[in-house]
Amino acid sequence: MKILVINSGSSSIKFQLLDMSDEAVLASGLVERIGEAEGLIKCILRPGAADELTVKKTTVVADHKSGMRLAVDILSDPRQGVIAARGDIDAIGHRVVHGGEDFHQPTLLTADVLAAIEKNIPLAPLHNPANLDGIRVAQELFAGVPQVAIFDTAFHQTIPPHAYLYALPYELYEKHRIRRYGFHGTSHKFVASECARLMGRPLEELNLISIHLGNGCSMTAVENGKSVDTTLGLTPLEGLVMGTRSGDVDPAIHSFLARNCTMDIEAIDEMLNKDSGLKGLCGLNDMRDIHQAIANGDKRARLALDVQTYRNKKYVGAFMAVLGRVDAIIFTAGIGENDEVVREMTLRGLEPFGVIMDPAANNQRIKKPTLLSSRESRVQIWGIPTNEELAIAREAKAVLEK
Ligand code: ADP
Repeated sequence: MKILVINSGSSSIKFQLLDMSDEAVLASGLVERIGEAEGLIKCILRPGAADELTVKKTTVVADHKSGMRLAVDILSDPRQGVIAARGDIDAIGHRVVHGGEDFHQPTLLTADVLAAIEKNIPLAPLHNPANLDGIRVAQELFAGVPQVAIFDTAFHQTIPPHAYLYALPYELYEKHRIRRYGFHGTSHKFVASECARLMGRPLEELNLISIHLGNGCSMTAVENGKSVDTTLGLTPLEGLVMGTRSGDVDPAIHSFLARNCTMDIEAIDEMLNKDSGLKGLCGLNDMRDIHQAIANGDKRARLALDVQTYRNKKYVGAFMAVLGRVDAIIFTAGIGENDEVVREMTLRGLEPFGVIMDPAANNQRIKKPTLLSSRESRVQIWGIPTNEELAIAREAKAVLEK
């Protein structure tokens, strides 16, 4: 079964084609700058194989439909492509950011499902319309091919009300569904399942803390295999310090800025999402640049690292209290997989709680699942590469086999 995974953004489409008989990646690509003066498509065919081929094109990509067409042309190029025709694709898995309270599971796309994703646009005004564009284009180009929506929020629908409610007038929840939803669910679920497999125990018996540190960052408390709390909230802004997003702030900062700094709500929203986090603190949002700056004596870069890892540690402590017994802590995504300093600082001082890192094991970039805790650590510590495309393809396959 060949599954095409589509992650459609406002001006880009990320895609991956997988052969699910052995989960091999047949092609992986990105269409960027859709709707701009010059667009770019890059696709790696047969990555890792002896005949791996990178195809790059700079051309105007007017809209998502032309972007998707370009991708399909490369995939089905008779000389070098990986499929003979569009009909070779058995199913499509779409990443959808916000499923609100409507979706607890990956779901076969029907007119009703599309309407529900549309209904949830107010909860994710930037993401859901872009995801819908990708779905509509794929439905047109691949008429008759089953399509599955995989929601970033679905894994977190098991979070109980005492953890998902904000202490606001209850009518806001009843009328507008204002509550904590959580994101990165596909990634947290994937690494939690991987961790269970590696530990040789059923996921349903495990209590885990999953830490996803990329451009976006979030942490999830997993109890008996289910998400019971997470740091991202109504939108992907709450919780940990991210590349450009603030994470937790005092909500009164909004009114302070409005009254004293002549900022309107749009400017505040933009600042919290795009000019805060690591970037706000030191001007840099890539952790590799931050380490370089620290090596050059940049004090603000050091402060940014301290603020981020302190916040991480604070939430690890909170989720240890939520779970009581913790079997393992997992690090994943760009920073979580590659940055031994962030991992070490996040867990430093937690030794009295049975969390003991093995410095030698930790001192590396994680290319495959790796145990990072020492033998005497009561809580196992794992670095596990996330693979959202594979997770989406597996979920889509499972829906079709049902
Ligand atoms: P996204 O959330 O966009 O999927 P990723 O999970 O790819 O992001 O993470 C991107 C981030 O990972 C980069 O901004 C960078 O800070 C970090 N990163 C990538 N490689 C390294 C590295 N070798 N060392 C430290 N940080 C890294």
